Amino acid sequence: MHLFLATPRGFCAGVVRAIEIVEKSLGVFGAPIYIKHQIVHNKYVVQDLESKGAITVNEISDVPNDSVVIFSAHGSPPVDYEIAKSKNIKIIDATCPLVIKVHNEAIKYSKEGKKIILLGHQEHQEVIGTMGQTDMILVDDRQKNNIPEFDAEEKIVVLSQTTLSVEDTKQISNSIKDKYKNSILRNDICYAVSNRQKAVKSLSRLVEMIIVVGSENSSNCVRLKEVSENYGTKSYLLNSVDEIKNLNLKNISNIGITSGASTPEILIDEFINQLKPSKITTVGDKEREINFVLPSELKA
Ligand code: SF4
Repeated sequence: MHLFLATPRGFCAGVVRAIEIVEKSLGVFGAPIYIKHQIVHNKYVVQDLESKGAITVNEISDVPNDSVVIFSAHGSPPVDYEIAKSKNIKIIDATCPLVIKVHNEAIKYSKEGKKIILLGHQEHQEVIGTMGQTDMILVDDRQKNNIPEFDAEEKIVVLSQTTLSVEDTKQISNSIKDKYKNSILRNDICYAVSNRQKAVKSLSRLVEMIIVVGSENSSNCVRLKEVSENYGTKSYLLNSVDEIKNLNLKNISNIGITSGASTPEILIDEFINQLKPSKITTVGDKEREINFVLPSELKA
C-alpha cells in the first residue's frame, strides 16, 4: 500500500499555544487547574492534560471560587469573564489570537453602527464566544435560505468562524454580497484551516480513501472529511488507531492521511505503524512557522 501524507497537517499555532498555557499554568499555579470547555477539540490532548492535573468543565459556574481557570482556545463570551471575576477566579486566557481578532472586528464594526452577520455553526464553542461580543445574526451554512432580511442599502459586515469550509463560506458570502451590495466580507477562516483544506484537495486526487485523524467534535477535522468527499474521495474521521479495523482496506492501493489542527502527530505515527505502507509520499506545501506569544503571567 502506498501512503500519501498531507502537508500541512496537525497542530496549528493556536493549539500549540493553548497546550503550552495549560502545561505552564500547572507548573506555576499547581494542580488542579480548571479548563472551561475542552482546551482543544481532541480527546487524546484533553486526557493527557487531565492526567497532569487539569480538570475540564463545561461551564464557568462549574469552577470553584478562588481557583484558577483556563479559557479554551475557541474563545468565550464576556459574561464568562464577569462570572469568573465575581467568584474571585483567576483567568488564564488561551483564546487563540486569531479568534480574538474576530471578536475585535465584531466590536469595532458594531461601534460603527454596522449590522453584523456571523457565518458559523450553531452551538460551536467559538460561535458562542463570538456571538457574546455584541449583537449579530448567525447564518449557519448547513441551513438553506437563511440570509437575513435587511434594507437593501444596509451596511452589513460578514464575519466567520475560523474553522469553516473555505469553498462553502465563499459561496454564502457571495450570495450575501449579491443581495446587499454595500456589505463588507471579512475572511476570518484561519491560515491553518485553509492550508489543511488545500492539502486534502491535492490528496484526494491521488488516493482511493482518506483517513482524517481527529475527534468528531473538531470542526476543522469534520471540514477536512467533507472537502475530501466533495472532491470524490471516500473519507473517514477516526479518533484512534483501533478504529482502522472498521475500514474495508481490501482494494485500497493508495491511501491518504491527514489530521486537523488539534490532532497530535503521535496519533499519525500510530496509524502509519498499523497500516505498514510499502511507500510513503508527502503531498502539499510546508506551512510557514507561526508562533503566538503566551499570556503575560506565563511568559517568565
Ligand atoms: S485552528 Fe486557527 S483559529 Fe483555531 S486555534 Fe488554530 S490557528 Fe487559532
